[in-house]
Amino acid sequence: MELWYTEYQTKNLGLTCRIKETLFQGQSEFQEVAVVDSLEFGRMLVLDGVFQTSVFDEYIYHEMIVHVPLCTHANPKKILVIGGGDGGAVRETVKHAGVESVEMVEIDGLVVDVSKKFLPEISAALLTNHPKVQLKIGDGIKHMAEAEGQYDVIIVDCSDPIGPGEGLFTPEFYRNVHKALKADGLFVQQTESPFYHQDLIRHLYRDIAALFPLTRLYLANIPLYPGGLHCFTMGSKKYDPLQINVANLPELNTRYYNGAVHKACFELPNFIRNLIR
Ligand code: SAM
Repeated sequence: MELWYTEYQTKNLGLTCRIKETLFQGQSEFQEVAVVDSLEFGRMLVLDGVFQTSVFDEYIYHEMIVHVPLCTHANPKKILVIGGGDGGAVRETVKHAGVESVEMVEIDGLVVDVSKKFLPEISAALLTNHPKVQLKIGDGIKHMAEAEGQYDVIIVDCSDPIGPGEGLFTPEFYRNVHKALKADGLFVQQTESPFYHQDLIRHLYRDIAALFPLTRLYLANIPLYPGGLHCFTMGSKKYDPLQINVANLPELNTRYYNGAVHKACFELPNFIRNLIR
């Protein structure tokens, strides 16, 4: 018997994958957590029926959410990751030799546990208890409200703006992120699909630009996510990602990110320029 799994991406659109088996299915305090093994994407983490990451294409998302901001900041030492329970963002962050500490605040311990068990190549830095990584199971919204002037870079590797992730897309959250950063700090958030989340992007870009002198949106092609095109938004107090010298990038052993991609990812088609002007 063939098994198929569908993620409903909008009311009228789904992505259906043929799967070999369901490796895990359980309910946490916050969401339904599943890991399915699919023929096209390999093992995938699914939260409340939404595909989060897959072993096939995770490198694109994790390299782009980490290396674009860390290569923009001149000297990133103290890093905070909000969410990111699969561990891919911390795996990429510890590739930067100058990083001294990576705090990760993930609300759902079950996501971390199943990622360590079923997605070891993604959760590698959590599995090995990397000495620079401190994992805290808690609410990133509360953590941000309490933090002040302590981080060089904050990476908001969150799920969709429903359920526990809803409060990670509000003006109040962005004010707290601004407060939690040092005077030359910057942050990045995954900000969904420029095809299917246009209202969200319009609003969050406006909210971030009201706080940060440099606000930039960038793109990556990610087959697993709605429309195959995903965007990230950066708010920066000082460093401009468009001004870095890409000839001086560190060797990061990446499969997607490089200097040319760093420059190109900020080039936006007109329909996206129009969303954020
Ligand atoms: N790459 C993914 C995407 O864009 O689909 C994001 C994956 S990562 C697994 C998202 C994580 O954010 C989830 O594990 C979820 O539990 C976590 N999360 C959601 N709301 C949160 C909150 N308020 N504080 C901390 N973590 C949160």
